[in-house]
Amino acid sequence: MAPSSKVRKPPTTPPTVPSEGEERRRRQLIEMTIDSLAERGYIGSTLAEIAGRADVSPGLVAHYFGDKDGLLNAAFRSLTSSIGAAVLSRLLQADSPRARVQAIIDANLDAEAFDRRTGTAWLAFWGQSPHTPGLSRIQAVYQRRMLSNLRDALAPLLARPEAKRVAAMIAAMIDGVWLRAALSTWREADSESARALLAAFVDSRLAEKRPPNPIDAKREQNALYRSFVGGRFVAGSGELFTTINPATGEALGQVEIAGRDTVEAAVAAAQAAQPAWAALTGTERGRVLKRAADLLRAANAELAALETRDTGKPIQETLAVDVQSGADCLEYYGGLAASLSGEHVDLGRSAFGYTRREPLGVVAGIGAWNYPLQIACWKAAPALACGNAMIFKPAELTPLTALRLAEIFIEAGLPEGVFNVVQGLAATGQLLTRHPSIAKVSLTGEVGTGRKVMADAAATLKSVTLELGGKSPLIVFEDAKLDNAVSGALLANFYSAGEVCSNGTRVFVHRAVKDAFLGKLIARVQAMRIGDPMDPQTQVGALISAAHMEKVLGYIERGRAEGAHVLVGGGRVTDGALSQGFFVAPTVFDGCTDDMAIVREEIFGPVMTVLTFDDEAEVIARANATEFGLAAGVFTRDLASAHRAVAELQAGTCWINHYNVTPIELPFGGVKQSGLGRENGRAAIEHYSQLKSVYVALDDIEAPY
Ligand code: NDP
Repeated sequence: MAPSSKVRKPPTTPPTVPSEGEERRRRQLIEMTIDSLAERGYIGSTLAEIAGRADVSPGLVAHYFGDKDGLLNAAFRSLTSSIGAAVLSRLLQADSPRARVQAIIDANLDAEAFDRRTGTAWLAFWGQSPHTPGLSRIQAVYQRRMLSNLRDALAPLLARPEAKRVAAMIAAMIDGVWLRAALSTWREADSESARALLAAFVDSRLAEKRPPNPIDAKREQNALYRSFVGGRFVAGSGELFTTINPATGEALGQVEIAGRDTVEAAVAAAQAAQPAWAALTGTERGRVLKRAADLLRAANAELAALETRDTGKPIQETLAVDVQSGADCLEYYGGLAASLSGEHVDLGRSAFGYTRREPLGVVAGIGAWNYPLQIACWKAAPALACGNAMIFKPAELTPLTALRLAEIFIEAGLPEGVFNVVQGLAATGQLLTRHPSIAKVSLTGEVGTGRKVMADAAATLKSVTLELGGKSPLIVFEDAKLDNAVSGALLANFYSAGEVCSNGTRVFVHRAVKDAFLGKLIARVQAMRIGDPMDPQTQVGALISAAHMEKVLGYIERGRAEGAHVLVGGGRVTDGALSQGFFVAPTVFDGCTDDMAIVREEIFGPVMTVLTFDDEAEVIARANATEFGLAAGVFTRDLASAHRAVAELQAGTCWINHYNVTPIELPFGGVKQSGLGRENGRAAIEHYSQLKSVYVALDDIEAPY
């Protein structure tokens, strides 16, 4: 749970960082204010009174806080922030959705809130806030944060509208129980009984309501998901496809395909909205993106559950990575938007030039199914930061979370039409890649799709960013810390059941340490928990579809047939309810050679191949002997050889002593057949904007005519 980071007006003078002494003094004055409020009430708490208590002059209090309102605002903010910190710390310790709800209740009704001094100060603020705009704003933020924390905690337990209603009830009860206790001068309830009362209430509500069971097909299979155009859901071609939960094989709902008319409507909406969006300052656009980041984080639990149902990935991953990394991306480009600029070029005395960084116009994003929400954010954030409007097509297998992102953008203040989602299969993608009014396409997908998209885009000379497949090497040198190397290899192969484009599936281990490496690796793979993706303990979920599972199993059989040995895994998992889904055990092959299909081709499943090498030059040559070039990793304690190796490796991203970490600040993308262009970091800005050069003459001009 991230604390809300509302954007405030910039100060008129640069902020100065208070010294430790000043901070101590401020805190002391705030404590005196709370004492004064508890004893003398709001009216009696004057600057002079507080100065007297602190044994300082009223001028000094005014120096720190301006006037009485400033001091009381600071004191109230201090009370609400300490509750905010308590909520956060309890939430971090809570290990289940129900415990998260209780964490919020406990933090709001803990013993300090019932302490006569703090409680009376709260009462004074509550009473005064309708008459004092500053206090009323703090009160509103505090209330909103409590509601959003509660909604977030309840999301995995209740359907969305119900979670909203129950969150409002719990918030009202927290306030009500506390207020009654305060008005009865703490006779009616103490902290413990108040918390027990709320706990009983929550349990009774949860018992009554049916949880939003991800496996409850009956409720969800009738849902109809549509395209989102111009700020609303719109009817499409009438043609439907079913989206399923790959962990159960059950329907999650029907999705209506966007045909030509819907795509034309999306282009028109984007064209209409884009100029005004581009005309905002970067700061204004950034503010919307940062607000969307906050909203995304507040909806983490709900979106993670949705992503898990749609992709089959474990909830422990989607909670920690999928939504959060999307929010990080929005926040990063939200911050960058204000600093986008051209440059001034000195052309001597008679002229100068400058460049303007301008948006491209309407751009399209086409996503793969492995990180649906993250991919939508990785494309939308830089595109919107630069002032473009975007039409995004999610993969047909994972159409759901992009729709929630579109709603969140609207809630964050993005003008309607700036971000649109069209649903459909490859044909819908083609309507975008061939559209003459779309200036650019960014695709994440397979190499073959990349080629088709580029060919289609060529007809209208669109620029393209292609994030494509890989078969990346991970090299473990003789001197590597083996436990780290094993951790790296696990991250490089089995996260998201191996459905990660940058996976290091060719693990080259130095001959001298191979046995030790395999010993540690196998023990850890055997201990991995495969299961229901909604179970927080599950580490390996389902593959995306039956067809994809068959493809992965086909590769495993081919590996065996070509002479490689399965050390662990090697087949489908069908224990109990898992038989309904598409689960494959994490698999490690030994005895591999560079020419085997399992070593050459992208499998996109939980299949690791282990190869042996003897020296650096040999392993680099073998690592590079592939048409792909997305990523590579090296594990060694010798940093000189690590840097030498990464300089030689033909890959867009290299990790030294780690694998598959993709901080938003670092550009990401492939070389060779793994792609064109870069996402993330400042580099992505180049791909969503264009430069206009302006020459400015300062003198009279001569012409030879
Ligand atoms: P696909 O290439 O099958 O599909 C990607 C997207 O393109 C989907 O939305 C798909 O629609 C659409 N599409 C398919 N054909 C066309 C076309 N002719 N014109 C326009 N759009 C089209 O990839 P997957 O979804 O199967 O994703 C897995 C692949 O993505 C793997 O190869 C993986 O390595 C790669 N990938 C690369 C990443 C990177 O950053 N380099 C990151 C993640 C994945 P539909 O789904 O409806 O067919």
